[in-house]
Amino acid sequence: MRRFLIAGNWKMNCGPQETSTLLQEIENIIGNMPEAVDGLVCPPTISLTTASVELQNIEGLALGAQNVHSEDNGAFTGEVSTEMLNEVNCEYVILGHSERRQYFGETDKTVNAKVNKALNDGLKPVICVGESLEQRKADEHKLRVKKQIQAALIGVEDEDASNLVIAYEPIWAIGTGETATPDQAQEMHKMIRKEIADLYSDDAANQIRILYGGSMKPHNAEELLEQPDVDGGLIGGASLKADSFTDIIHIAE
Ligand code: 13P
Repeated sequence: MRRFLIAGNWKMNCGPQETSTLLQEIENIIGNMPEAVDGLVCPPTISLTTASVELQNIEGLALGAQNVHSEDNGAFTGEVSTEMLNEVNCEYVILGHSERRQYFGETDKTVNAKVNKALNDGLKPVICVGESLEQRKADEHKLRVKKQIQAALIGVEDEDASNLVIAYEPIWAIGTGETATPDQAQEMHKMIRKEIADLYSDDAANQIRILYGGSMKPHNAEELLEQPDVDGGLIGGASLKADSFTDIIHIAE
């Protein structure tokens, strides 16, 4: 059985001070994570150290970064390495978020390099895929997502497949308040799982967690999380408030 993973992508919100406050509020509400649910928060890079200290008080809530570079170290101004993320106790790293693809020139190729680098260095990638509204309207959404997955996983070995998390995030649902319907999410998640089975094995497909992202809120989380192939959420806006984030955690419980 797959465990739910409820993940917060804080994007460019919360410096170290706000990070401390938010994590303390989360701790005050839930104490530790419920037994049956895994949690994850992904603050901005500058807040990772602070978050790592605060998270010592919340069992079951892991730390992740929002990006990493594919080289070991060197002359890459503005970037962080896998070694640095490991040093501050990151367990996960979000890769290929549509905002990084749209605003920062991330491509299937750079995402693939980062996925391999992260896995080699013991970080679990949360690989983001998803179609634009135009692609959905043109009925190209399945093909687009399938291609993103195939490209992201080039060179990834069978034994690493269970360390992957995939997040299906339709671009038209991100930050818009418009969520994919439970049926739309289930259809895409099922297809993604089938793709993993084809690329690796049924075992890998059964183990891998596929998160839904795009305007997941307390009021719609239940119907999404009820879908058999939805294994959790990658939550933006609603992860920035302790009450809405912990509400979603309780819904998953
Ligand atoms: P919202 O929940 O704000 O729509 O953001 C989703 C997202 O992009 C998570 O990575």
